[in-house]
Amino acid sequence: MSNTDFALAVEDLTVSFDGFKAIDNLNLYINRGELRVIIGPNGAGKTTLLDLICGKTRASAGSIKFNNEELVTLDEHIRVRRGIGRKFQTPSIYENLTVFKNLEVSYPTGRSVFGALAFRCTEDVRARIRAVAEEIGLSKHLAMEAGLLSHGQKQWLEIGMLLMQEPALLMLDEPIAGMSARERELTADLLKRISKNRAVIVIEHDMDFVKQIAHKVTVMHQGRILAEGSMEAVQNDPTVIDVYLGH
Ligand code: ADP
Ligand code: MG
Repeated sequence: MSNTDFALAVEDLTVSFDGFKAIDNLNLYINRGELRVIIGPNGAGKTTLLDLICGKTRASAGSIKFNNEELVTLDEHIRVRRGIGRKFQTPSIYENLTVFKNLEVSYPTGRSVFGALAFRCTEDVRARIRAVAEEIGLSKHLAMEAGLLSHGQKQWLEIGMLLMQEPALLMLDEPIAGMSARERELTADLLKRISKNRAVIVIEHDMDFVKQIAHKVTVMHQGRILAEGSMEAVQNDPTVIDVYLGH
């Protein structure tokens, strides 16, 4: 496969913080429509990798190609427009707005000044809000104030806010932290559904959850990739057991 066939191709990526390489010459390739799980011990560089891909942190060296376009020189908001969506660990929803409004304000209007000025909540936008609400299981909660949702529902709402932008790559950092068992199950189903139309990268610690969703798993350690393959392959990899799963 040539590099042009990947949704995301990260090559020789390095970032140094005062000489410490949090990401060290890393290569990562994600296919279109792939759901990739990244695991690894605390401090491995997982969050930093997502920061580099979304543009929150600038790379010291290397390349990040998205649909064959180089991203490293592009600002974060330009990367969003290119189709990169990033969910952080703590949900950033508008607690005092309804679920509907939270989704509505996430509809991308900033593509041009004229778009932003001319924006109305048209039937198209409403249809999109309903479709996203259905996807995230909040159809019955559209009129509810977001602050009244359960912790899990808030996480789904934030995923929904990202889906409003129709990202081609969605990245989620520990999305099930603090969720109930039932919410975890529903989140696994949700991630499987949304990865049908886009590439998804999920960082997760909970191995039962990883087993439910994982197709291919990347194990990171000290800013590098330690192992990559099926869940079964990485689970039985002695180096992975040694640095991560054994503890
Ligand atoms: P993980 O998400 O795998 O737990 P992180 O990506 O958060 O790991 O962190 C990787 C390493 O980089 C850690 O040692 C962390 O302290 C360091 N690090 C992350 N961001 C910064 C920063 N902005 N400045 C300095 N060090 C950082
Ligand atoms: Mg992290």
